[in-house]
Amino acid sequence: MPPSLEQLTAELARLPGVGPKTAQRLAFHCLRAPRESVERLAAALSSLHAAVGECRQCFFIAEGELCGVCANRRRDPGVICVVEEAPDVLAVERSGGFDGLYHVLGGAISPIEGVGPAQLHVAELLARVAGGGVREVILATDPDVEGEATAHYLAEQLQGSGAAVTRPAHGLPAGSNVQYADEVTIARALAGRRAL
Ligand SMILES: [Zn+2]
Repeated sequence: MPPSLEQLTAELARLPGVGPKTAQRLAFHCLRAPRESVERLAAALSSLHAAVGECRQCFFIAEGELCGVCANRRRDPGVICVVEEAPDVLAVERSGGFDGLYHVLGGAISPIEGVGPAQLHVAELLARVAGGGVREVILATDPDVEGEATAHYLAEQLQGSGAAVTRPAHGLPAGSNVQYADEVTIARALAGRRAL
């Protein structure tokens, strides 16, 4: 293959879920596609890091200071849904069952991987709740070992904060991942949340 096609294939193959065959198919697709559409893709890729950062309040993806959820005045600031990763926010949003705000931790506590509360946006969450006006904190970390440990750690830290601490109870299968759950399951799990 010509070096530029080879390089594109190699870069595409580094993407999650893209094997060498798919990478080659995508590279050939780009080669055959109209130049304008490939240039739009290239422009979107190269402006991504410059344009998109983290929301200074909830750490979801944002263009500017605040993300679209935090900037939306129709959302209820009295309820914060805590999730591990930004795609979890998208999953909960698709469920349509939540009108509060979020807090993205950036992962889960995992002693094996050397991730403790200091590596996550835990201090920022506690500061948000301490700032007042928060009635409920929903701990929607994944229902796996790390997610459960994180939820229990946060529940302890939030004791005496004045906010009710809940966890989605039903529907999400143990060991699963919030971001891969379907909308109905998430909506049901949120509706059935229990106090921790
Ligand atoms: Zn935000």
